[in-house]
Amino acid sequence: MKKTIIALDGHSSCGKSTTAKQVAKKLGYAFIDTGAMYRTVSLYFHDNHVSLTNPKEIEKALSEIHITFHFNEHRGASDVYLNGLNVEEEIRKMYISQMVSEVSAITIVRKAMVAQQQKMVKHRGVVMDGRDIGTKVFPDAEIKVFMTAEPTIRAARRQQELLSKGEMVDLDIILENLKKRDIIDSTREEGPLSQAEDAVLMDTSFMTIDEQVDFVIQLHDSVLARL
Ligand code: C5P
Repeated sequence: MKKTIIALDGHSSCGKSTTAKQVAKKLGYAFIDTGAMYRTVSLYFHDNHVSLTNPKEIEKALSEIHITFHFNEHRGASDVYLNGLNVEEEIRKMYISQMVSEVSAITIVRKAMVAQQQKMVKHRGVVMDGRDIGTKVFPDAEIKVFMTAEPTIRAARRQQELLSKGEMVDLDIILENLKKRDIIDSTREEGPLSQAEDAVLMDTSFMTIDEQVDFVIQLHDSVLARL
């Protein structure tokens, strides 16, 4: 059977990773969470006091960062590793969310991550979620979905997610962070967040996860039938 690349791009916290994970499972595809990669770079920069305005320091740091994904049986999903250390939990924390968009806007960081993402896909049969997958990483992806949702709904979902991991954060702080990330992500020079011309819009404000997954699977099946 023919396989495709599914690109799920969109705003922060509108269910991209959750949808991508389940779509990948249903189709027997691999799932790559590119946000986890930018978060991992941010963690390294944070821990090593890398100056975001010093290109030499950034370049050196990037050469020292090795990002890998390994399947976690217990979670039923892949965990991200930084130089052999599992950082899956750490990178989801609020202090990383507060710096990740600034880090992701740095051109040499983006170039390094995009190159790595392209190299990770040896053959089709992949669901990749991020901000620039359909526009920059895989412009030839057969299926492109651009996901969005109302900011207050996204913030409430994010708050629940953080709470389930033991981090209590004020709704206003989360909302402000989401809006700020959306602005930085959409206005940066390199690989800005934007809806690809051939992407289908999915507003998840009033959709359940099952409905989101079905939407992508149906789109996949209809595209596949025409290939
Ligand atoms: O998807 P997630 O919210 O974990 O992504 C964290 C941040 O990483 C985003 O706000 C964005 O700044 C950056 N990112 C990006 N390009 C991607 C994926 C994520 O710039 N492909």
